[in-house]
Amino acid sequence: MIKNCQAVWKNCLEIIKEEVQEQSFKTWFEPIKPVKLEDNILTIEVPTPFFYEWLEEHYVYILKKAIDAELGEEGKLEYSIVVDKGDADHQPFTLNVRNSKPAGSKPLVSNAQQNGNSDIASHINGQAINGQSAQVSKKRVKSPFDLPETALEHFDSQLNPVYTFDNYIEGDCNRLARSAGYAIAKKPGITAFNPLVMYGGVGLGKTHLAQAIGNEIKANFQDKLVLYVTSDQFTTQFIEALRNNNVQNFTNFYLNVDVLIIDDIQFLAGKDKTQENFFHIFNRLHQSGRQIIMTSDRVPKSMQGLHERLLSRFKWGLTADIQVPDYETRVAIVQAKMSNEGVEVPNEVIEYLARNVDSNIRELEGVLISLIANASFMRKDIDLELAKTTLLNIFRTTEKEITIEFIQQVVADYFKLSVDELVSKTRKKDIATARQIAMYFSQQYTDMPLKMIGDRFGGRDHSTVVHASKKVIEKNDNDAIYRKIINELTEMMQVGN
Ligand code: ADP
Ligand code: MG
Repeated sequence: MIKNCQAVWKNCLEIIKEEVQEQSFKTWFEPIKPVKLEDNILTIEVPTPFFYEWLEEHYVYILKKAIDAELGEEGKLEYSIVVDKGDADHQPFTLNVRNSKPAGSKPLVSNAQQNGNSDIASHINGQAINGQSAQVSKKRVKSPFDLPETALEHFDSQLNPVYTFDNYIEGDCNRLARSAGYAIAKKPGITAFNPLVMYGGVGLGKTHLAQAIGNEIKANFQDKLVLYVTSDQFTTQFIEALRNNNVQNFTNFYLNVDVLIIDDIQFLAGKDKTQENFFHIFNRLHQSGRQIIMTSDRVPKSMQGLHERLLSRFKWGLTADIQVPDYETRVAIVQAKMSNEGVEVPNEVIEYLARNVDSNIRELEGVLISLIANASFMRKDIDLELAKTTLLNIFRTTEKEITIEFIQQVVADYFKLSVDELVSKTRKKDIATARQIAMYFSQQYTDMPLKMIGDRFGGRDHSTVVHASKKVIEKNDNDAIYRKIINELTEMMQVGN
């Protein structure tokens, strides 16, 4: 006889009814809807995440008894948790979580204790919670959205205290973002700047400002949970949670946060599932007046691979750009950094540096550090002459010519291939990938025309080179492992030269 889910669940309810009080039965079991029965797995829909947690904490053994009776020892139960009911504008969002059916019939530690929020907290806030699981279990949460007290005490914001407002120089280039950030730090979640999205090129101070806001909020409100994560960390944690059937805990952990700072959201592009989860977390946090701060390396609306519905949420708050600092701001930055290091520098040197290093602040900092190092190495005061030689040396190294031979050798070595294999006709995936990367670097680092680059890669035409570069850029945008490879190779190109 083919069993259907309604009939099976009806029988389960008969068994459960015998075991629980009437009021509890009405509250916790009547609202459940059976959804499907497949491969001996019964899926039941529960109306909220809280329901799921409650059932797992209080009724896991009764559920097991019912499932065993209906589907046998091998039978399993899965929850379909309605996290967001949806409305005319967006689809409902549900999560499917397998019930971790206990082996025995007598509880030693409740399933929810083993599986509770502390798990995910210890993943994210590793060192803070490790070794305290027993304690955490005892103080088991009353609602899934409360973190155990021990977790609160040891909550690691992942903020670097070095980044503050005090050492963030204000200029026209960052005024809007900075003042919005300052307002947020006074009243997180309450201003109109929620979310705050700050965008701008590399090295212009997005991370510094985002962290400064976080540090300031922590100083102003000791009891607020502030969390800084990069979108890469968020993605990795989410994937791990998926793998361990732990998405619910992952989500709950994030729902506890009062201020969520998520850096470099452009890396969420193309990661559909992660975005979906982030979208849900975003909505829930925003609804309950928590502050969200994001940074991106480009203006959100031109971020390809990010869902429209997520982008449209950004418009609820403020999107502020951070631009390349003008000359006056660069002067102020050099002055501040030098005096911070306790180094006295003549004005003409400050002006010289501010005039000549105009791309980004990270580079400017690099130059200042080299200059200080050179001065102490040569036991000289910092003067214009030393500044000039330092700059010249830095530019000379970066502009030294990189040849195609060099690029091919570095890439071949990296992938443990010979250069002959690299430029051969073979379409073996590994070799083809390495070849694309080498073509991309050749296009980036040499002035050679595309046709000539193609020639040097076994007589390929220029469109192959264009295609290769496009592919590399795409993969670099969407794949963290690939990006790591490209970053490592980039470093090798520069160091090895
Ligand atoms: P981004 O995240 O935009 O790539 P960062 O925030 O990492 O840039 O900034 C790069 C470096 O420049 C950091 O060391 C930071 O402290 C410094 N920096 C950036 N903007 C400022 C500023 N306005 N004042 C002082 N230092 C700054
Ligand atoms: Mg950054």
